[in-house]
Amino acid sequence: MSPLALITGASRGIGRGIALELAREGRHDLVINYAGNEAAARECKALCDEATGGKRRVEIVRADVSLPADRERMLDFVFREFGRLDLLVNNAGVAPSVRADLLEASEESFDRLIGINLKGPYFLTQKAAKLIIDTTPADGIARAIVNVSSISAYTVSTNRGEYCVAKAGIAMMTQCMAREWGRHGINTNAICPGYIRTEIAGDFWETEAGAKLVAGLPRRRLGEPRDLDALLLLLCSGEASRFINGSAITVDDGMTSW
Ligand code: NDP
Repeated sequence: MSPLALITGASRGIGRGIALELAREGRHDLVINYAGNEAAARECKALCDEATGGKRRVEIVRADVSLPADRERMLDFVFREFGRLDLLVNNAGVAPSVRADLLEASEESFDRLIGINLKGPYFLTQKAAKLIIDTTPADGIARAIVNVSSISAYTVSTNRGEYCVAKAGIAMMTQCMAREWGRHGINTNAICPGYIRTEIAGDFWETEAGAKLVAGLPRRRLGEPRDLDALLLLLCSGEASRFINGSAITVDDGMTSW
């Protein structure tokens, strides 16, 4: 039986990049989660099928990670269809619909961000970890949880405090899980990307302010989802990453070290 990876928010952007890289590596069957964009999820599945040459099974499953019933249904699907779970990538995430000054920002936006970006992954991982613990490890395959946090976990991003707070929570969640589940052979780590070109920022990168920001970046370009591949594979590699646990690793081309 092939090891199984579940990637949340994998229809587009960074999650799609992660699914594709795992498909190219070819060791895992894949479950691609999405919230509502079925066409994008199907497109991601087709690309992954092509990358594995049909040698691995790839499925899509719609679930809103902020909803307990959806999380339950998704994990039921995983267990019913695959009977195991080796790798969970908590990638699904959203930005605030409106960037608002802290004096104005709404409680609704806070609840939405915490629900999707922190509470959802927290309780999804709680249940998923039980499945991983009950899964007999595959030879040479890491039992791993990878959480997509952000440089916003430790760098203030103005007018979106709720996003920063949620991402900081993901970094601490990662440490707590690493401490408690290391004894089960599960490595839990977080990736903290800098600016990556995806749809999360809307058309911001096309605006004057966006272009100015890009011009000030070390390589004068945004990151692409592929820029995260090397770290992702390391964190999923088993032997090589055995002692990397509870870390939040920045991939931002040095942007936050100025
Ligand atoms: P995108 O907007 O490009 O993609 C978001 C993905 O998450 C989509 O697959 C979307 O599904 C899914 N999603 C959204 N809400 C939910 C939900 N409630 N339940 C399940 N899935 C959901 O974003 P990115 O690829 O840029 O972001 C991915 C992660 O990376 C996020 O956690 C983000 O915070 C983080 N990040 C991004 C950075 C960047 O610069 N891009 C920088 C640092 C961190 P659907 O297609 O169905 O809507």
